Amino acid sequence: MTGIATRTCTHSNGWTHTGGEATCASCGVRRFTDYRAVRPPGLAQVVTAPRKATAVTDRAAAEWVMMRTRRRGWGPGG
Ligand SMILES: [Zn+2]
Repeated sequence: MTGIATRTCTHSNGWTHTGGEATCASCGVRRFTDYRAVRPPGLAQVVTAPRKATAVTDRAAAEWVMMRTRRRGWGPGG
């Protein structure tokens, strides 16, 4: 069984299932049985990095690779 119970519920019958939630008719405890019950409505906001930030990141990655390839070896002291 999944979900969050604010109180202890031992009732096994009389549960109402709607939209990812199960509600106990006897004591009113709600259990979330589906991920969609706790998910905010609508689609997630699209996050796009600014062009300048991606350029800085690309340059840093390129410098890291160049520093690595200048090495004579990959082992300790190499
Ligand atoms: Zn109950």
